[in-house]
Amino acid sequence: MRILITGGAGFLGSHLCERLLDEGHEVICLDNFFTGSRDNIINLLPNPRFELIRHDVIDPFKAEVDRIYNLACPASPPHYQYNAIKTIKTSVMGAINVLGLAKRTRARAFQASTSEVYGDPEVHPQSESYWGHVNPIGIRSCYDEGKRVAETLFFDYHRQNNVDVRVVRIFNTYGPRMRPDDGRVVSNFIVQALRGHNLTIYGDGSQTRSFCYVDDLIEGFVRLMETEGVSSPVNIGNPSEFTMLQLAELVVKKVGGNSKITFHPLPSDDPKQRCPDITLAKKLLGWEPKVPLEEGIERTIAYFKKTLGL
Ligand code: NAD
Ligand code: UDP
Repeated sequence: MRILITGGAGFLGSHLCERLLDEGHEVICLDNFFTGSRDNIINLLPNPRFELIRHDVIDPFKAEVDRIYNLACPASPPHYQYNAIKTIKTSVMGAINVLGLAKRTRARAFQASTSEVYGDPEVHPQSESYWGHVNPIGIRSCYDEGKRVAETLFFDYHRQNNVDVRVVRIFNTYGPRMRPDDGRVVSNFIVQALRGHNLTIYGDGSQTRSFCYVDDLIEGFVRLMETEGVSSPVNIGNPSEFTMLQLAELVVKKVGGNSKITFHPLPSDDPKQRCPDITLAKKLLGWEPKVPLEEGIERTIAYFKKTLGL
């Protein structure tokens, strides 16, 4: 198949490009390089089945394709808050452009949605039937509401124009090719520990997240895209839940060194808990994560050690 991946030069996108090329597909990677980089996909450039296009998804684009994975959107809070208006334009206009293309080409369209659609959840763990608890006017809203509108557009194009759609709700995912300055918690803690700096916990560290290793997530993406008859968004994530304090302690233990754990103000609207209910993914896709946190953290530490030359 010929497959378009928007945001293909980012953390998740680059792993997806690699996986789909390995399966023998043609891959078109479209990216504006806001948070992604050529380094992430440099090894793929010599492959004749790989094409790289510098383009912004808020502007329409044309290509004859069979599948579209729409990943374009900054994912780390500091990056998506850097230009909040641009972030919401990317999610909303990006979705409209992807869906317009899917309608014309009859391609199947896949949206990288997020556990952020559940906001600061009052239901725990979160299953797909939960509608969420989202602040519409806070500092995270450009991302959360942008992704919620994108989901709405995907299902409206499906109902109104018969576009074949898949929507994945991704829970916190980590691994090699995160940027050292990404700003998300796993990369922050590992890079801080490797550099011998203190680890920065926001708040008292009792908030929870559930961390999925990138290889597990990509397997879930491909299964969801290629499974017939899926009519609902699907959570993909690792249901093992940890506090940020537990994560900091694990990273310090694995890296070694003398880093201390320090506490800093909690950003507003920071969700207190987050854990996926993956019953649907298990049932529909036969998918569940395989890489436990300790092992994934070890692999990610090895990546950052090499990248940072430490
Ligand atoms: P990332 O920031 O590494 O990747 C995003 C990519 O999109 C980058 O290559 C960036 O340059 C590109 N991009 C941003 N705006 C664009 C635009 N207007 N036009 C074209 N390209 C643009 O982040 P990631 O972790 O790889 O996330 C990929 C997708 O998965 C995002 O849509 C994100 O919202 C979603 N997601 C990720 C996680 C996670 O834990 N990694 C969790 C939930 C959702
Ligand atoms: N966090 C932290 N220290 C950091 C970066 C993040 O304690 O250096 C916290 C953050 O406040 C949040 C959790 O870790 O409670 C996960 O943050 P991240 O930005 O990785 O993802 P998200 O909040 O979008 O789930």
